[in-house]
Amino acid sequence: MSELSALSLSELRAKLADKSVGAVEAVEAALARIETTEPKIKALISVQAEEARARARELDATGPDAALPLWGVPLVVKDVLATKDVPTTCASKMLENFRPVYDATAVAKLKAAGAVLVGKANMDEFAMGSTTENSAFFATRNPWDLSRVPGGSSGGSGASVAACQAFGALGTDTGGSIRLPASFCGIVGLKPTYGRVSRFGMVAFASSLDQIGPMTRTVEDAARLLQVIAGHDDRDSTSVDAPVPDYVAAMRERRDLSGLTLGLPAEYWDEGLAPEVAEACAAAVKKAEELGAKTKRVNLKLSQYAIATYYIIATAEASSNLARFDGVRYGYRAKDVDDLMDLYVRSRSEGFGDEVQRRIILGAYVLSSGYYDAYYRKAAQVRQLLRRDFQVALSECDALLGPVCPTTAFKVGEMTSDPLQMYLMDIFTISTNLAGLPGMSLPVGLGRETGMPVGLQITARPFDEATMLQLAGVLEANLPGIGHPAL
Ligand code: GLN
Repeated sequence: MSELSALSLSELRAKLADKSVGAVEAVEAALARIETTEPKIKALISVQAEEARARARELDATGPDAALPLWGVPLVVKDVLATKDVPTTCASKMLENFRPVYDATAVAKLKAAGAVLVGKANMDEFAMGSTTENSAFFATRNPWDLSRVPGGSSGGSGASVAACQAFGALGTDTGGSIRLPASFCGIVGLKPTYGRVSRFGMVAFASSLDQIGPMTRTVEDAARLLQVIAGHDDRDSTSVDAPVPDYVAAMRERRDLSGLTLGLPAEYWDEGLAPEVAEACAAAVKKAEELGAKTKRVNLKLSQYAIATYYIIATAEASSNLARFDGVRYGYRAKDVDDLMDLYVRSRSEGFGDEVQRRIILGAYVLSSGYYDAYYRKAAQVRQLLRRDFQVALSECDALLGPVCPTTAFKVGEMTSDPLQMYLMDIFTISTNLAGLPGMSLPVGLGRETGMPVGLQITARPFDEATMLQLAGVLEANLPGIGHPAL
């Protein structure tokens, strides 16, 4: 791999600013890396080589602009985010030919900050899954071990950044889809507080849970991307009009963790963890203590209900959000149909994959009259109680620490026959979305048994991404680091 490709986003930025690297050079490095690694990992659904080159030439013609925080930086975006004139497929046959006429707000902000889009990342279809095997097109492989999954649903973004195809990516997280692939691929992934980042232009899965966030090789890189995409947007009424702090400046304020109290939820540290995950995460907690943090046990008693609650709420919202893909208003249209009903039925049966259909059916069921009270209303109530559990824990602690996932990345095909087993992978990440809190995955080591990356999950108070980034930054600086996969 070229030295340039191995740089972090923050390092590249400095070189672009002092003109030791040009935008075209940065883009060519990304495209060259894509060419050599893509046949192995298949992280991208489309590559915007010519558009990226043209944009980079424009940027170089005018020269670096200090007012543009991502000037000349090649990035990848999950294919669930609308990109003007560039295919946006959601990894579904349903949207295979969709070319939006507009950019998602997060994408528009990246572009306005000078970033160059080089590719659209593979994902589980409509962001439903934990391994990126549910893509209608192909499965992505983990750059650390090609026989293993990259995690999901933002597995293309995770694999692409870990393989140094780009200097950062956007993913989306409804129940863990940024944090899980970040953990499996050994990179940093940050799910912002619900409302921190505009969802305009993100194809909705479960609107009360979805958030867009950065996936990067370093904590500072995540801070820089979050800085650009955060903030209120008139086109998303759930985006919150709260000040966005200077995250990089906040990170610089801290060299140790003195004065911080970190909660260790008993339910996240039980014996269900793979020993290699427990060890790596426990070592990181010990390091946090050495760096001055106080730790204490806390309880999230309702965690055991999180998966059931999530799979009722998320599927209910999905069944409603995906109703628009009917072959008439949006999406794939079946050919040679008999009548209107046949058109609807066949367009949706042919356009959606198995997992998406399973979720739509489940969601329609829990919303149907007669079952609504028993399932949907009950789940909404449990969600409130879960949120309260977090409020209590976070009233005594500045942040919570635990593993992202009970295991490291597993083998391709290992879980595909058992959707329930797959749902269990989200056991530690899902509650964060139900409670609307910010969460992050930080690589803390390689597992003793599998040699695969282990992610530590940090959860913080609403809109306190700054504390989360500070904590992650100090830990990153004081842990050995896992390097890059040999690819
Ligand atoms: N794995 C979870 C699911 O399949 C989470 C997906 C996500 O966060 N988009 O629903």
